[in-house]
Amino acid sequence: MAKKPKRRGKHIPQRTCVGCREVLPKRTLVRIVNGPEGVAVDLTGKAHGRGAYLHDKRSCWLRGINGGLDHAFKTKLTDQEKQALTVYMDEHFPDGGSVLLGDEDLSR
Ligand SMILES: [Zn+2]
Repeated sequence: MAKKPKRRGKHIPQRTCVGCREVLPKRTLVRIVNGPEGVAVDLTGKAHGRGAYLHDKRSCWLRGINGGLDHAFKTKLTDQEKQALTVYMDEHFPDGGSVLLGDEDLSR
């Protein structure tokens, strides 16, 4: 007689990546916050404001920066905010290719 594995109350928060809409455990995502100082990467994960999440994938960041975050925050990211996010992306998810926003292939 097989015992059923007990389901313990181990709740793993899930969030949706605004780049690819995949639902993932929160800890594998990077939080972006729309706080009093605008849209920025939330390095602490605890900043006040509305949060949105992006995967650690460059393609998702590009999509986020190019519209996904606008949509999530119901606002329009300023060029400055986009620039800051792009810098973060380039530092953490380098591609070796063009680092400029634009018509990079988003289908990957
Ligand atoms: Zn994603």
